[in-house]
Amino acid sequence: MITPTDAFQLLIDLPVPSGSQKIALEDSIGRILAVDICADRDFPPFHRVMMDGIAVQDIHSREWPLAGIAYAGEPVFHLENSSSAVEIMTGAMLPENAQAVINIEELEFFQHEEKPWVRHIGTKAIEKGQFIHQKGIDAPVGQMLIPKGKKIGPVEVAIAASVGISTSLVEALPSIGIISTGDEIIPIDQQPLPHQIRSSNSIMIEAVLKQKGFQTEKKHVLDEPAAMEKILADLLDSQDILILTGGVSAGKKDFMPGVLAKLGFEKIFHKIAQKPGKPLWVGKRSDGKIAFALPGNPISTLTCFWVYFLPWIHQVRWPTNTISVSQLPKSNPNLVQWIPIQFDSNGAHALRNNGSGDLINWASANAIACLPANQEGNELMYFSLNL
Ligand code: AMP
Ligand code: MG
Repeated sequence: MITPTDAFQLLIDLPVPSGSQKIALEDSIGRILAVDICADRDFPPFHRVMMDGIAVQDIHSREWPLAGIAYAGEPVFHLENSSSAVEIMTGAMLPENAQAVINIEELEFFQHEEKPWVRHIGTKAIEKGQFIHQKGIDAPVGQMLIPKGKKIGPVEVAIAASVGISTSLVEALPSIGIISTGDEIIPIDQQPLPHQIRSSNSIMIEAVLKQKGFQTEKKHVLDEPAAMEKILADLLDSQDILILTGGVSAGKKDFMPGVLAKLGFEKIFHKIAQKPGKPLWVGKRSDGKIAFALPGNPISTLTCFWVYFLPWIHQVRWPTNTISVSQLPKSNPNLVQWIPIQFDSNGAHALRNNGSGDLINWASANAIACLPANQEGNELMYFSLNL
């Protein structure tokens, strides 16, 4: 058994799995890319004409007969006669064999023997390669264009579109599967028989996580190892993290640690010197998935979820604020006690309760205070229950 502080230290060192989500490219501004974006072809994909004008092979001539017109969006034009020119538009493929593009402002078109001709009237010499955006010069096919982790802005959207990506994989909060266990537990919309109780744990966890923006999926399973293994395995296909409630203590039907081990989870800790919530079990798998198995008593579940799971998933330290608490029970010699407190004009007072199964007497609690083992004073650290 470890202390609460040691348990939390182990959680600080435990990486929160990162989730990802596919969203439409047009919805992706401001999100973080979860994959590299690479060039699916050369950029530009062909020698691209950069000016309206003509393309020529013979750059030393001043006059050329016109062999045709090449527009953007047309397949490549073959300039067969090395002494002629092709009229050309911005964005067109450079005609095969052409050496340079001359912009229209430096040209004069005329007729010679009833054939169209063009003359260079500019003063500067024509340079080989001028106004040709060379194939692959911006990026060759396969080159990484935007690394994962980059925040998506307008340029990233345009580049993604250029390589044919219409849905982008972006970072998301990890997805969380919530599984309650117990033969006695029934859904909340059913009338319980005398030996049954309605499930309050999983919906409490779901409600809080949803409010915090997490995607969750909730299931219930009976205390039967094969059924537990199947439901957990199914949820692990889609979820990054599992929160389980019940079946983790020392009872004859507490199968959860064994089931998690069978599914490949390695225990990080099991049992903390605290009350409630002593049996908390946390483990990780080699694929990065994390499981928190919380004891099923509603207050044990609430405490473990609030004090361990939420700070871990949000990567925050425990609070350091303290409050003076009156009407405290006697501190336990060995266990930290988590106490429901209600704020009052002097600080706070502890609420009477009937143990970890007593959800009802927590209704007026504002916070969970930490009463250390063997504590003398009444100045206690506390976790607010406000969201
Ligand atoms: P366990 O941790 O499975 O031994 O369960 C301890 C106690 O918690 C049982 O007596 C159950 O009545 C109660 N409990 C377990 N799961 C839930 C749940 N989902 N909702 C409410 N109470 C529960
Ligand atoms: Mg149980």
